[in-house]
Amino acid sequence: MSKKNSVVLHICIISIIFVLTGCYEPVAFPKLVTSSSIPSRTLPSRTLTSIPLSSRTQPSRIAPSISSLQPKPKPSTFFLVPGQYRIVGTSVRRLPILSFVLGRGQDVTFILATIHGNESAGTPLVRQLGKYLQKQPHLMEGRRVVILAVANPDGMAHRSRLNANGVDINRNFPSSNRVNNRQSGATPLSEPEARVIKQLIDQYSPDRIVSIHQPFSCIDYDGPGTTLAVRMTQYCDLPIKKLGPRPGSLGSYAGVDLGIPIITLEMRQNDSKLSSNILWERYGKALLAAVLYPERVP
Ligand SMILES: [Zn+2]
Repeated sequence: MSKKNSVVLHICIISIIFVLTGCYEPVAFPKLVTSSSIPSRTLPSRTLTSIPLSSRTQPSRIAPSISSLQPKPKPSTFFLVPGQYRIVGTSVRRLPILSFVLGRGQDVTFILATIHGNESAGTPLVRQLGKYLQKQPHLMEGRRVVILAVANPDGMAHRSRLNANGVDINRNFPSSNRVNNRQSGATPLSEPEARVIKQLIDQYSPDRIVSIHQPFSCIDYDGPGTTLAVRMTQYCDLPIKKLGPRPGSLGSYAGVDLGIPIITLEMRQNDSKLSSNILWERYGKALLAAVLYPERVP
């Protein structure tokens, strides 16, 4: 063996020994981060490292943005009936009480929900009604709909039937059958929430009223509300049941004393767990029947 060959052989032997003893470490190349390698909970918005190189270098091949994929609004959207939100009062705990008024016609329907704070399924239902009517201008011709989606905001916040003073608002009206006691309030209209409802009745003189409750699963009425109750029951699966006027209730005051047809729509207990879309499927037409009365739902 020549001296040159001997040197090469020595270098080879030393290299093999380095590798075998771990003294050689291959260079680690950085990995490309992809969305699938990061738990979705910790994934930030789409980062540069997550974009395939081909997309970075070829902008024309990047997918169009979500907004450019959205369908253009249908023509009917341009003819929305403008609804007006208004703060019509405040609760005992100073929460705002909001009304939503649609239309300017002479025929007025007043619909209120959650006068008992732990019976709140009517709130998403009446909001669905407002959205629906805004998109149906022909139904609003000659009509006005006044919606009070949360009549008892303090009670709703604490899932309590009563308001923050411990008074049942639906016993606080100045009806001829009212009794003064702790739960009905010391005097008629002692509670700000009841005063808001009376003020809306005075202001709009509704032709009919629908007050939404739970859980008795029926359509109840007071005053001259028989034919309206019959009509509404044709558009949902709730039976008519006469529960009788309660002392100081809105039904006693508006229905019996003022002579306004008033419906107590008693939804089911489990309706609180349903989505607004399912509630609308179940009770929407019955509410429309009240709004369109005496016409029928198309
Ligand atoms: Zn109730």
